[in-house]
Amino acid sequence: MKNCAIVGINWGDEGKGRMVDLLTQDYDIVVRYQGGGNAGHTVVNEKGKFALHLLPSGIFRDGVVNILGNGVALDAENLWKEMQDVAAKGVTLTPENLKISERASLLLPWHRDLDALEEQRLADKKYGSTKQGIAPFYSDKYQKKTVLAGELFYPDELMAHLRDLMEWKDLTLTRVYGAQPYSMETLEAWLTEYADKIKPFVCDTGAFLRQAQRENKSILFEAQLGALRDLDFGIYPYTTSSNTTAAYAPIGAGLPSLRLTDVVGVVKAYSTCVGEGPFVCEMSGAEAEALREAGAEYGAKTGRPRRVGPIDLVATRYGAQVQGATKLALTKLDVLGYLERIPVCTRYRVKGTETDAFPFPTELERAEPVIEYMEGWGCDISGARRWEELPAAAQRYVLAIEEAVGCPIRYVSVGPERESIILR
Ligand code: GDP
Repeated sequence: MKNCAIVGINWGDEGKGRMVDLLTQDYDIVVRYQGGGNAGHTVVNEKGKFALHLLPSGIFRDGVVNILGNGVALDAENLWKEMQDVAAKGVTLTPENLKISERASLLLPWHRDLDALEEQRLADKKYGSTKQGIAPFYSDKYQKKTVLAGELFYPDELMAHLRDLMEWKDLTLTRVYGAQPYSMETLEAWLTEYADKIKPFVCDTGAFLRQAQRENKSILFEAQLGALRDLDFGIYPYTTSSNTTAAYAPIGAGLPSLRLTDVVGVVKAYSTCVGEGPFVCEMSGAEAEALREAGAEYGAKTGRPRRVGPIDLVATRYGAQVQGATKLALTKLDVLGYLERIPVCTRYRVKGTETDAFPFPTELERAEPVIEYMEGWGCDISGARRWEELPAAAQRYVLAIEEAVGCPIRYVSVGPERESIILR
């Protein structure tokens, strides 16, 4: 059986969506296994341009079954809006091509409120949350204080459960933050407006996946964000609240017995980072502005300008290692065409000593980038479809990254469109 995870090697926004969109042609099933609607995958194909937040990127391929696994933060409100958006652009969604795990926990309305209230309390010490409720959601999940999607099929028990949770949550809202409490009327309205809409798609996806495994179906696992945002291995506490690493795919997807055969790590040809936290290779001024403009680096979900910098080989090597990447996809190489010479962060300097190793989070705050320059190619390469069509300087850039990271680069992406790809 062929199965593969497509994961981010850096801080997210590497272009995973375009890689999943490309590779779904070889797979029967695509599963999103962690995270929520707090980041976006941009996909450009013959149906249009889409910013997906929760829907798996395989949704555009006929015959592919798309699954939201138990590991995701199931935000019914955002998901329903997203489903309507893609349906309006001609994408068919049915319980046959979209399945939601009955074991996925529901992101409840107060999670978003609590996210915003806590960021407000933190003021200038904020984490840079997208305020989609992800951190409060995951903490409640691990406290066993949220609701499983499958509970929608048991309305009496669900209402009693929600009432208990509301009473508990109202204590925090009113006493800690001085905010308004919830009422059962508000929750009932939310259930009718959003949760009931996604109910027809909720089923036992674990049983479906085990059957698919027996039938040797091929499965693609789609992650959100990147290795450096992983809760356990990233730049804690500026991480997300779930595991973005490939190792979590079998659990979060609902097929815990699975062994991944391939892990495609997606790396951007330069660095970007949204939100707060240490970003060692960060550029500033006109240099940063030029790169941000060239790469259109504004968040798919929030529209926030992304922080930018040169490729960071220290972070990328670490990211590839924690992901267990078996091959890499290098994206947005075309964006660097405007540069005469390309900066590369080859090492860090920590307390006066140069290092190749990715430091512990506290040390990271003190690390400085060691920048070297490579010759640019100074032309538009977005039309290249074969390795030989890339200028020699672009080839050298790709090979230098491959060598430094220690993992083969099998895909080089030179544009957002499905066909703008070079296979090596
Ligand atoms: P994801 O969350 O990892 O899927 O990444 P995003 O969708 O947030 O960001 C990637 C952005 O880059 C999207 O707007 C893509 O359409 C775009 N993109 C992906 N690959 C390429 C590429 O090779 N070249 C260019 N110019 N844009 C790309």
